[in-house]
Amino acid sequence: MAIRALSDRVISLIAAGEVIVRPASAMRELVENSLDASATRVAVRIEGGGASLIEVEDDGIGIVADELALAVARHATSKLRDDDIESISTMGFRGEALAAMGAVSHLTVASRAKDSEHGASISVNYGKSEEMRPLAMAQGTKVSLQDLFAKVPARLKFLKKPQTENGHHLDALQRLAIAFPDVVFSLHFDGKQKLMLPASDVAARVRQILGEELMDNSLLCEGGRDHSHVKGYASLPTYSAASSSLLYCYVNRRPVRDRLVTAAVRAAYGDSLPRGRHPMGVLFLSIASEWVDMNVHPTKAEVRFRDPYGVRTLIVHTIRDAIMRGGARVASSVHERAAAIVHKTKAPPPTPASMPARRSSQPMDDTPSLPLVMSSQPSPPPPPDDMTVSPQDTTPLTQSPLGDAVAQIHDMYIVAQSARGMVLVDQHAAHERIVYEKLKEQWRAGEVTSHALLVPVVVHMARAEQMALLRAKEMLSKWGFAVDEFGKEAITVRTVPHLLKDVAIEKLIKELAQCLLPDGSDDEKQRAEEQIERMQEAVLSLVACHGSVRAGRVMNKSEMNALLRSIEQTPLAAQCNHGRPVYVEFSSQQLGRFFDRH
Ligand code: ADP
Ligand code: MG
Repeated sequence: MAIRALSDRVISLIAAGEVIVRPASAMRELVENSLDASATRVAVRIEGGGASLIEVEDDGIGIVADELALAVARHATSKLRDDDIESISTMGFRGEALAAMGAVSHLTVASRAKDSEHGASISVNYGKSEEMRPLAMAQGTKVSLQDLFAKVPARLKFLKKPQTENGHHLDALQRLAIAFPDVVFSLHFDGKQKLMLPASDVAARVRQILGEELMDNSLLCEGGRDHSHVKGYASLPTYSAASSSLLYCYVNRRPVRDRLVTAAVRAAYGDSLPRGRHPMGVLFLSIASEWVDMNVHPTKAEVRFRDPYGVRTLIVHTIRDAIMRGGARVASSVHERAAAIVHKTKAPPPTPASMPARRSSQPMDDTPSLPLVMSSQPSPPPPPDDMTVSPQDTTPLTQSPLGDAVAQIHDMYIVAQSARGMVLVDQHAAHERIVYEKLKEQWRAGEVTSHALLVPVVVHMARAEQMALLRAKEMLSKWGFAVDEFGKEAITVRTVPHLLKDVAIEKLIKELAQCLLPDGSDDEKQRAEEQIERMQEAVLSLVACHGSVRAGRVMNKSEMNALLRSIEQTPLAAQCNHGRPVYVEFSSQQLGRFFDRH
């Protein structure tokens, strides 16, 4: 077949397909135009999920009548001066959004520019421009799209239920609103107000959109290097989500869903988040315009960094620092969930109206009885012990955040009394993290001591595992393991870290080999250093797990208190190496509520 140039109509449809993935992407383009026009108020009205109407009205600088026709033409933009693609500070300059919308809907642009006496409007009906008309209106621009895709059956059938599309509208507008807190936004669905955001500052806007709970469980983080700066709010490790959709990322105030950024944020949490869990929060990256290309993607969701590794490092370090500084703080939601569980266990079936609301007279037959090992009441000073508290610490123990240990239950949990209420600690989880962080510190300082085995231990394993261990030989030696090849399917172990001198070596080495096996991700973006980092964390975590106090070990009061103090002083000690919370706290009010003492 002969080669023919595509017709204008087909070209417009292709462009429309790229720009308008769904009604919400059209809405987003329009709002971005309003923001580029320095609007202080943006009102969005959606009908029928956007299929009937998408309307965006602003009070921005407007478009002069002479340029209205150009605004709706393809590849026309006011945002690029002298073809200087490198320095773009607006939301985008592809100059195809309005043209694309005109190809697949009945588009009307009405605008009155700043110093014009009156406004004008122009319509494009599925690619056909109509006459321009003068119009009386206030300064600003109102763009409306009617009957989107009505004459493009191939696209129409992909529209989802209005409710679903509305969800996308809400999300897209909220994402933009977070980056422009000084702009007033409103959103109406079929005449009903869904969102009204007054002008405010970033913190208040984020709080309004993401909610009190997230903000109360987030850490402020900020950092910069070279050409980039990052600032935002990152959730506590114990406050996570099942997907990354509640992580709002921005590059130069533009919302992005960039894999590199999301992955860097996740990497910053490392082993403080359980597998499959994701951080939430807001992250604003500012990067000098010549170091980032914002226009690689038609819907501008992804960006291209000139120094991706630098950006990753900046994000990882900034967030990690914030988490470390946050110390051993467990999310308030964890405590509340625990309290809710306790409540549920003791609450009787729903009270019929005739029954008194107070249940204090009912027998507590459904309350599980816990065997308590109470330590003798006013306790004498703890006996000297290898785990005692530093003597210069004179504040009463109950004043420390995790309080004074009063009992151990099931040889697993420590019960402590604090000024705020009661704390329940998972001793193994806590100790595991403490050993882990201590090992990391020793390792960084090059202070890992090894223990020479009297007789080298031979460990048999599959060839792949043997190879993986031998490849990591040098790294392992820094950890205190000396391993050598032994035939084709075994290795010998000559030394182990001192901490592990008493553990079952064969089992440990086999687990080690397992975690050194390549993880199958051949993602070229995953650099060698990240691979090594991942392996180190895996090895370390394993060592910490094998080397720490197991559940089931009886602890005396001074040991328990020493453990509580270590948790307070160890960064990341709010969660174990697998990301589970280390303690829960019940406030005195919550305790009161357990017993209906309101
Ligand atoms: P781009 O935004 O990439 O330049 P668009 O097709 O979205 O391309 O818009 C074309 C032009 O129309 C813009 O460059 C701008 O000059 C003008 N324009 C669009 N929307 C508005 C608005 N709300 N206020 C002022 N000018 C606008
Ligand atoms: Mg635009």
